[in-house]
Amino acid sequence: MPGPKILIAGGSIGGLTAGLLLADLGFDVEIFERSSAALQERGTGIVVLPITERYFAERGGDAERPSLELTYWSYIDSTGTITHADPDHFRFSGWNTVYRAMMDVFDADRYHLDSEMVGFDQRADGVTLHLADGRSVEGDLLVCSDGIASTARRILLPEVEPTYSGYVAWRGVTEERFLSPSTLETVRDAMVYQVLDHSHILVYAIPDHEGDTTPGARIINSVWYRNYPDDGTFEALMTDRDGNRRTTTMPPGTISSRFVDEMLSTARSTLAPPLREIVEKCPGPLVQAIYDLEVDQMAFGRVIIMGDAAFGLRPHVAAGQAKACADAWALRDAMAGTGGDIESALAIWEPQQLALGRMAVDRTRRMGIRSQFEGSMFPGDPTWKFGLWEPGN
Ligand SMILES: Cc1cc2nc3c(=O)[nH]c(=O)nc-3n(C[C@H](O)[C@H](O)[C@H](O)COP(=O)(O)OP(=O)(O)OC[C@H]3O[C@@H](n4cnc5c(N)ncnc54)[C@H](O)[C@@H]3O)c2cc1C
Repeated sequence: MPGPKILIAGGSIGGLTAGLLLADLGFDVEIFERSSAALQERGTGIVVLPITERYFAERGGDAERPSLELTYWSYIDSTGTITHADPDHFRFSGWNTVYRAMMDVFDADRYHLDSEMVGFDQRADGVTLHLADGRSVEGDLLVCSDGIASTARRILLPEVEPTYSGYVAWRGVTEERFLSPSTLETVRDAMVYQVLDHSHILVYAIPDHEGDTTPGARIINSVWYRNYPDDGTFEALMTDRDGNRRTTTMPPGTISSRFVDEMLSTARSTLAPPLREIVEKCPGPLVQAIYDLEVDQMAFGRVIIMGDAAFGLRPHVAAGQAKACADAWALRDAMAGTGGDIESALAIWEPQQLALGRMAVDRTRRMGIRSQFEGSMFPGDPTWKFGLWEPGN
């Protein structure tokens, strides 16, 4: 008997992981991605937690995918002196690198670009996906991995909105070839933090856009958390130079110069010399507004929401991608365990993934409050590590 027909809306790493795993079970899977061109890096690298690459690890993966490993987790003070350094291991890769590796193994005929979900109808025995160009597609289950601004969530849970945390991340990428030898030495094999007054910054190396991991040729990713109260200041920051209000991200070149100037001036007066150099030499910073998002339901008959569509984590544990992949793996396990019976599988999957999402949102919210509002983050805090389920994992 053929397995169920699975429709996936959203073809980023979360949707692709679900697609690959369910296709491996023998199910008939098609992915519908809104973007009209192959997805591109969002300008920064990602921390590769084990679940993100579990697909390749279990299939014998290709060893060629570039990533780099950092072996220290360190904190420096405003003079640039290392005040704390833990031996540790974290792997970093480019978002593109992971995405391309997954695209290489997913059936290209079943990955549809320029296919925006605008709605769906469901019956007891199936679901119809409606696309923006007027097409409709029939399936047994619709998996929506369509990100933090999810169309599916807006339809299913219109009352749920992301909640602004009170702070944003200024993010940037700086090429190592422009940095001084002393700064290169600081970031050579370490993840580097500086704890600031109700703020903190971290920097770490990632492969360059071609995947080069050679020290001196890499890119340094910087993430600086800064508070912008919701009293008109946040709104002004998130209004671009053309007067358009943006919700989640201000891409490079769009941020009003008064905010960029203030950020650079504060960098000069508060950051340790290596971190200041990295921030100053970034050609165009972007701003990512930090939100919490959580839901009480992920399964709605024949439609489910997963990944950022359901729970949006603050970035302190670098696990948003990992959580989307964990949702996909749990779906695959539940489907495999029930022989593809959708109702039984979702009865297993939903409570587990709701619990995981709530735990991860609570943990990252607590970290953000400590750093940005209580000022109780301290150098060397053992709980301050990347990981989805717990620090390090
Ligand atoms: C700058 C930055 C750095 C990050 N670094 C890390 C990290 O180091 N580690 C980590 O684990 N996580 C990281 N994250 C978080 C991670 O990127 C997200 O948590 C993860 O991408 C969520 O995956 P997703 O599949 O749920 O959604 P997304 O990756 O947002 O994908 C949603 C997809 O759905 C498509 N889509 C949207 N609407 C529709 C529609 N109506 N129809 C069809 N398609 C649609 C979009 O085009 C997109 O391709 C980072 C995020 C950012 C912004």
